[in-house]
Amino acid sequence: MEINRNGAHTNYHDVVIIGSGPAGLTAALYAGRANLKPLIFEGHQPGGQLTITTEVENYPGFEHGIQGPELMDIMRKQAYRFGACSVFRNIIKVDLSKRPFKIMDEEDKEYFAETLIISTGASSKWLGLESEKIFMGYGVSSCATCDGFFFRGMKVVVVGGGDTAMEEANYLTRHASEVIVIHRREEMRASKIMQDRAKSNPKIRFVFNTVVEEVLGKIEDDKKTVTGVSVKNLKTNEVSVIDCSGFFVAIGHEPNSGIFKEVLDMDETGYLITKKSTSETNVEGVFACGDVQDSYYRQAVTAAGTGCMAAIDAERFLELKEYEEQLAVSS
Ligand code: NAP
Repeated sequence: MEINRNGAHTNYHDVVIIGSGPAGLTAALYAGRANLKPLIFEGHQPGGQLTITTEVENYPGFEHGIQGPELMDIMRKQAYRFGACSVFRNIIKVDLSKRPFKIMDEEDKEYFAETLIISTGASSKWLGLESEKIFMGYGVSSCATCDGFFFRGMKVVVVGGGDTAMEEANYLTRHASEVIVIHRREEMRASKIMQDRAKSNPKIRFVFNTVVEEVLGKIEDDKKTVTGVSVKNLKTNEVSVIDCSGFFVAIGHEPNSGIFKEVLDMDETGYLITKKSTSETNVEGVFACGDVQDSYYRQAVTAAGTGCMAAIDAERFLELKEYEEQLAVSS
């Protein structure tokens, strides 16, 4: 049983939000201002992906940029001002067969929700190599801002050719002596400004048309260290070794939609499908917003925008249901 800041003791809510990135917290702000006292399940990464970035320069309203964690902190406080409250746990199971929807958290606590807003975001993708798993957390990482500090004065490799890879590479130059970006093609997907920034950084070197086949390292008395990566040039098929102490995977993300499989419509890669120009899913009363339903824009500001849509859709849905119930009673 949760106690919200308005003093209500309940596990029954008009609006439950799963996920606490820009989409979830914006949904909470709007639902809060509609007096719906939303409950946010923040999960294990409160604030979402922006909490592991540094400077956010493209969120409107901050002329000189803002640090990702600070932005999320402000968004949360703003939602709390209007009655939202948080539970810092993951949801592991949902029953969307009837309203109120039943959801269960990782401590087997059950909650009931008249409407559900899904803003579970997306997680980093991995190459899928066995050696990547072995050295994960011991030199293999997907978060430069979290782990870059450990590679002070060392050589590191970043794999990927998108904005994330450029951002990670640039950030890592603060700590590492050299950053080598390995990309499987010659053209990069990253925006021109991010590419130009990385290309003009003297500490960054690019290796194109190349894939990482194995992460190399040492395991001595339970101590694991990365020593390099084995790579293959896709044009010449030549295999070689690039020495490095850190290996950062920056090849994109996948949607966190696992618990909704077989229940909510999703595309072949797991992104939730919403009805055109709305946040409605195929289940009445369940709305989706942010990166879990957006494989294309994936920006903090677009996530926030869809979070606003989801809260408005949930509010209108509740109003309609109330009206229908009143009609049923009076007829
Ligand atoms: P992305 O744009 O999808 O790029 C992923 C990159 O990883 C691509 O270059 C892709 O290569 C490569 N890749 C994917 N799978 C691979 C594999 N198995 N092996 C080797 N390489 C692989 O993902 P992202 O960079 O995470 O960006 C996602 C979105 O967030 C974009 O819209 C981006 O603009 C945005 N973003 C913005 C900022 C910012 O503005 N500050 C920062 C980060 C991200 P191919 O090109 O060959 O497919």
